[in-house]
Amino acid sequence: MGDTAGPGMDPDIGDDDLGYEWVTCEACGGDGVDGHDCGEDTCNCLRPEENRTCHICRGEGGWKREE
Ligand SMILES: [Zn+2]
Ligand SMILES: [Zn+2]
Repeated sequence: MGDTAGPGMDPDIGDDDLGYEWVTCEACGGDGVDGHDCGEDTCNCLRPEENRTCHICRGEGGWKREE
């Protein structure tokens, strides 16, 4: 019907330049860290930094969603 894009071209995919879509990890918000762990049973840190590697994205902060 005059479609020159051909089959397999999904117009919903906007990141065609990269070839993939970057998905931000919702668990850590893209920081790659989720939660604080200083090794102490009772944390006495005044300002507990998030230093636990996010197990969802393995510290990457997201992942590629290849289509
Ligand atoms: Zn701590
Ligand atoms: Zn994450």
